[in-house]
Amino acid sequence: MTDQQDTTDSTDPGRSSDANGSVPRETVSIPSEIELPDLLDFYERQTPEHTQIAEFYENLDDGRLTTTRCTDCGEIHFPPRIVCPECMADDLEYVDLPHKGELFAFSESRGGTPLGYHDTSPFVVAVVDLGEIKLSARIDDARYDDLEIGDPVSLKIVDIEGGSASERVFYRFVPKGDTQ
Ligand SMILES: [Zn+2]
Repeated sequence: MTDQQDTTDSTDPGRSSDANGSVPRETVSIPSEIELPDLLDFYERQTPEHTQIAEFYENLDDGRLTTTRCTDCGEIHFPPRIVCPECMADDLEYVDLPHKGELFAFSESRGGTPLGYHDTSPFVVAVVDLGEIKLSARIDDARYDDLEIGDPVSLKIVDIEGGSASERVFYRFVPKGDTQ
């Protein structure tokens, strides 16, 4: 994947946000030669039957990175919650997060990687500062030695192939070049 270029700009206007532009997209595969125990699957089940934050994944599948905000105290959480950890209210709403941020911290994973990641090691993991919140995410299309704290990055969405009967998606980030 390190030699892959992001040429997956969506042409479906429904998949991109006006404020953030189009989001590159890629499909990654879970190994099919072994049956993956649920607890070893890095990606959780994303349907309403399996998670109470299914709306987060539905929004992500639509090209939007979102999270929950408490309508009582205004606190924004990540990952999305079903109860506000600040005031314990359960009246939360989904709000859009920026698709661009900067590297707050980063490291490189060279071993002991989750199943499904073994063929892409080493890879970069980072804490991305989106302003309102910071989140941890994998950084694609980048080598550790080429990155610096403060580098701009932008959202990338991956479609998870295999491991589950239902379609799954996840978020990553990629370095934001001068031309993007
Ligand atoms: Zn609250």
